[in-house]
Amino acid sequence: MLQERAEEMEEDLLPLQERHSRLSERSAALRAQHRTLRPELETLEAEDERRIEGLRSAGAAMRAERAGLAGSLGRTLKEYELIRRSKKGIGVALLQGGRCSACNVSLPVSVQQRATQDKFPPVKCPSCGRFLIRLTQPA
Ligand SMILES: [Zn+2]
Repeated sequence: MLQERAEEMEEDLLPLQERHSRLSERSAALRAQHRTLRPELETLEAEDERRIEGLRSAGAAMRAERAGLAGSLGRTLKEYELIRRSKKGIGVALLQGGRCSACNVSLPVSVQQRATQDKFPPVKCPSCGRFLIRLTQPA
């Protein structure tokens, strides 16, 4: 009886030992792969850090430039922020084919002419109240 039970347990143990052996080999292979890839990972992480640092300094430069430009806009910037807040985040619209790109209203010729003169402060759409700008072709 006891002998039978011992044989059964040995039979149960065999698949587990095989599985343990396979998993140990797999583990060793993965450790070796990790050791091989570690230098590459360190290189990539260093490149990533440099890239992040570059983006941080570019962002800081852009924020400083924006602050400088915003200072020169004064009242128009405040007005723009108010328009933006009341118009779902979009305070400017393009003059496109005689229409406002935001509300699609056909603009009076006098408004179109003032918008194309690029004067400051910019002209506003008589319908939606956003500042109208036109895109100029790059030289
Ligand atoms: Zn409009």
